[in-house]
Amino acid sequence: MKKKIIVANWKLNGNTKTISNFLINFKLHVLPYLKYNTIVISPSTIYLERVYNNIQNLNIFLGAQNVDVNIKGSFTGETSILMLKDIGVKYVIIGHSERRFFHNETNEIINKKFDLIKKFNLIPILCIGESQDEKNKNQTKEALKNQLNHIIKHLGIQAFSNSIIAYEPIWSIGTGISADPIYVQKIHQFIKNYIYKNQNDINNIKNLSIQYGGSVNIKNAKNLLEQPDIDGLLVGNSSLIYEDFLKIIKISSDIFKKNNI
Ligand code: PEP
Repeated sequence: MKKKIIVANWKLNGNTKTISNFLINFKLHVLPYLKYNTIVISPSTIYLERVYNNIQNLNIFLGAQNVDVNIKGSFTGETSILMLKDIGVKYVIIGHSERRFFHNETNEIINKKFDLIKKFNLIPILCIGESQDEKNKNQTKEALKNQLNHIIKHLGIQAFSNSIIAYEPIWSIGTGISADPIYVQKIHQFIKNYIYKNQNDINNIKNLSIQYGGSVNIKNAKNLLEQPDIDGLLVGNSSLIYEDFLKIIKISSDIFKKNNI
């Protein structure tokens, strides 16, 4: 079994004091679990460098929550891929439903960001997911296909090499209602089958992980991570409390150890 990738998405939370406190305690306890997981912390842009300075010597990686579609120039208020790379970012979350909804990000914009992240050799975490309405109407697979098709059409299936797709049902994000692990497993299988259409794709698309995100917590993490096609977790609220994030990492480590004896 390959290592699961556990990503903290801190969204618009934290300040110098809470982040220092988190990092001091997190670093004190996380060492025994580092070799069993890939761990990524994604703070708000303004705290990226602070977090990086604290984790760069450990095997913990830095994630950004967004990137602009432009590389440089007159785009007030934006952060470019060059800047993110310059300060040590390795992963970039794109397509999050909060950005699609609150910032009107379309599949076209997300596609441009995906392309840029790949061109600069960083790793995109592409969030896709269905709304409550789409779920009710049995349109989940269509919604996911539609979000994936933009990448496939413009960049080709090969673009998914060295990438992460985070399946995040919109009805589950921040609601406390996590999707059922068996349901998630089936959706992840569907996504994998949609991308790997034949043996050629299996040979050519390397290092694609499918993560789950949506109200993950210390109670549901085990059942989710035990599913064979859930390659990791994107954790929002539960990643803000260092004890909870650590527990999720410990659960992931135990599953890795159990499957690799
Ligand atoms: C997220 O924002 O990506 C997320 C999954 O949030 P939460 O865990 O709080 O539902």
